[in-house]
Amino acid sequence: MLAAAAPQAATPLGVGDRLFPYLGNPGYDVQSYDIAFTYKGDNSKPLDAVTKIDAVATSALDRINLDFSHGTVRSVKVNGLRAGFTTKDEDLIVTPSRSVVRGEPLRITVEHTSDPVAGKEEIGWVRTKDGLAMANQADAAHRVFPSNDHPSDKAYFTFRIRAPKELTAVANGRPVLTTRAGDHTDWVYRTAHPMATELAQVSIGRSTVLHRQGPHGMDVRDVVPTKDVKKLTPWLDRTPGQIRWMESKVGRYPFENYGLVIADATTGFELETQTLSLFERDLFTRPEYPKWYVASVMVHELAHQWFGDSVSPRTWSDLWLNEGHATWYEALYAQEHADMPMEKRMRAAYARSDAWRASGGAPAAPEGPVPGEKISIFRPVVYDGSALVLYALRQEIGKEAFESVERQWVSTHRDGTATTADFVALSSRVAGRDLTGFFDGWLYGKKTPPMPGHPDWKTEAPAK
Ligand SMILES: [Zn+2]
Repeated sequence: MLAAAAPQAATPLGVGDRLFPYLGNPGYDVQSYDIAFTYKGDNSKPLDAVTKIDAVATSALDRINLDFSHGTVRSVKVNGLRAGFTTKDEDLIVTPSRSVVRGEPLRITVEHTSDPVAGKEEIGWVRTKDGLAMANQADAAHRVFPSNDHPSDKAYFTFRIRAPKELTAVANGRPVLTTRAGDHTDWVYRTAHPMATELAQVSIGRSTVLHRQGPHGMDVRDVVPTKDVKKLTPWLDRTPGQIRWMESKVGRYPFENYGLVIADATTGFELETQTLSLFERDLFTRPEYPKWYVASVMVHELAHQWFGDSVSPRTWSDLWLNEGHATWYEALYAQEHADMPMEKRMRAAYARSDAWRASGGAPAAPEGPVPGEKISIFRPVVYDGSALVLYALRQEIGKEAFESVERQWVSTHRDGTATTADFVALSSRVAGRDLTGFFDGWLYGKKTPPMPGHPDWKTEAPAK
């Protein structure tokens, strides 16, 4: 006997991420996003938006779940036909006029608003003194636009931004078209490489776009508050040299262009948005930050373009691969350009490592976010606590093999996603022996293993 299945209720779904169970959605693979925003010059008012998603169904679907939480949905179409929709928690649940078959191409068009007044968590849209910028990591892209908001589903992006004519709009990738008409300007940008939703960037403000030449003729493009161009130029002049330095370590820069967008806002963080990293103005203007520190933070976000952006994490538990590597190159740059020995920093990290593991989980098994504070997964254990894992690997397999792992990692997984198991497998292959046991302790252990070559290094007892 077989009972007929009851019609499935509209429920929020996810791709099964251990840290964010409702993030992403099963049943389809997004190829591209085409997102149009109309900004009327007031960053306390919702923007009008149209998000077009081209996807392929990977299974038969009666409903299509999207992630979206911070705007009003006006209409949804699937392949040109009006579709039903409802919202539940952080999902927009679409009912197409007929069921979708596996393998079918889908064009989902959502007319909606995008509300920059974020409420408690100031992520998603960042309201600046003169407009807006974006900070979507880890799970805030769906506050801004309907999406499959998980780094495992990368896609190409086109952004179309209409803004008052006195403002400048810039987004990830290259400019395609700028059209001035009446009191507004239309700006179009397109990425040349696939991108995770968390790495989207749209900046609108009283900004100047500065160009300079990077290595092998690449375009280095910065977006700076116009009033600060002179003050910030000495910092921006450093980027081409930093790119050259990173290329000497891991190989060619992976994207079409690079630069900084400097936001006139207090965010308390910088963010590696793809091809256009977000920085807060304060980092460059506050006198208490030493110059070496500011430069090393610039290198941290630059290193993410390889580690985190070009090679993005398959799940959020792989976050250590992003932050561990970015911290590694941040520290290595400080060692080579300032009197900041890596060994000293790593010895200090080693001392605190057990405490970090006790409070945040092991590097590759981080604890979930504190309720209501989703970005709380960005704990010390994934920064210096995970750079320490890379240091241990270098101690274990030697400098030459380690550098080969790094280069092969970014070339093998370029424009893709990768897992912790992929990193363990590559390291084992390069070292010529199985490193599973070595990594087990370093990535998953409650206690930090002994540091190869430094038997005298000690951990401090975690604070009770
Ligand atoms: Zn980082």
